[in-house]
Amino acid sequence: MTENLKTITIIVAAGRGARAGAGGPKQYRPLAGRTVIARTAGAFLDHPRIDAVRVIIHRDDDDLYHAAMAGLIDHPKLMAPVHGGVERQDSVRLGLESLVDEAPGAVLIHDAARPFIDEGVISRVIDALKCHDGAIAALPVYDTIKKGDGADHPCINGTVPRDGLWRAQTPQGFHFEPILAAHRSAAGEALTDDAAVAERAGIAVALVAGSPDNMKITQADDFGMAETLLKRDETMWEYRTGHGYDVHAFEDGAAVILCGVEIPHDKKLKGHSDADAGMHALTDAILGALGAGDIGDHFPPSDPQWKGAPSRIFLEKARDLVGDRKGLITHCDVTLICEDPKIGPHRQAMRNALGEILSISSERISVKATTTEKLGFTGRGEGIAAMATATIALPDSR
Ligand code: MG
Repeated sequence: MTENLKTITIIVAAGRGARAGAGGPKQYRPLAGRTVIARTAGAFLDHPRIDAVRVIIHRDDDDLYHAAMAGLIDHPKLMAPVHGGVERQDSVRLGLESLVDEAPGAVLIHDAARPFIDEGVISRVIDALKCHDGAIAALPVYDTIKKGDGADHPCINGTVPRDGLWRAQTPQGFHFEPILAAHRSAAGEALTDDAAVAERAGIAVALVAGSPDNMKITQADDFGMAETLLKRDETMWEYRTGHGYDVHAFEDGAAVILCGVEIPHDKKLKGHSDADAGMHALTDAILGALGAGDIGDHFPPSDPQWKGAPSRIFLEKARDLVGDRKGLITHCDVTLICEDPKIGPHRQAMRNALGEILSISSERISVKATTTEKLGFTGRGEGIAAMATATIALPDSR
């Protein structure tokens, strides 16, 4: 392989992940504040020896992909996603075909559901490709392996010698032309991984040390295990809290928008954007925790392009700034202050709406409401005030 040819990573994210339970495909779900796919793609985008990353997605998942990759979508190394096929093997083949014009020297093929891939494993696979046509991350098997008969109450039907057995992980790296040819000739077969496709074509594939952390999120329970893995590094996080406050006056209208939810009312909130005081306060709280100014700095009210703008673009900006710092939004607490409309019936919808924008669980978001006992401008029904705090975790750079 010529040194100056590109190394491109294909991330396979086209599966439906039925085994991981409800909540949509697992690769798009949040894992401690950042989606699985963003963690996985980020590891490769950050690697200095990876030139480009292409994600293979299901044809129904364009919107899910763009939402889940927020913050990375403009990364200069990220290529546009392409649609996969019915089986994983079809998806990989289509991904490889999409790179023909790029003519990379090597490709690394990686499962989207392995978000804990680290720089060392990626480097070992790339290094091995200097003297092999293929190389995969793998771990030797230390447990005794039993063969069992019967699905419900299996009994042992033999002990498999574990000498020379390895557990295959990803990334699996290959010189581009041979793996493309191998996938083309294996199209329609059901082989278990890309190394098996390579083996079938007679390509020698080296085994390099993977990592025990490089787990594949398969079952619903794996999310708990994955969160525990992340918490192990907790001492390396710096926690910060920010505060935000916003007020908008009422004017004649038919509905107010608060925390992303439209509530029918006999007035609307007056403002340059959609006047969502709750979302503005929360945006300022996150910006405050980052020390990144306030909404007005990022979206000047004097700029006509923000007139009538949905406030989610402000919150998305704050979220992306946290993502740029590789931080996590761990908790938000919003208090809405008004006599009317009644907030209680809409609180869960507000938590869901904010959680969807921030890519975090609604359990990390609190929305509360209070009146001011008819005192002051909120008590007189002249407007709505909102206060918010946001807690974020940033990698400790000290
Ligand atoms: Mg405002």
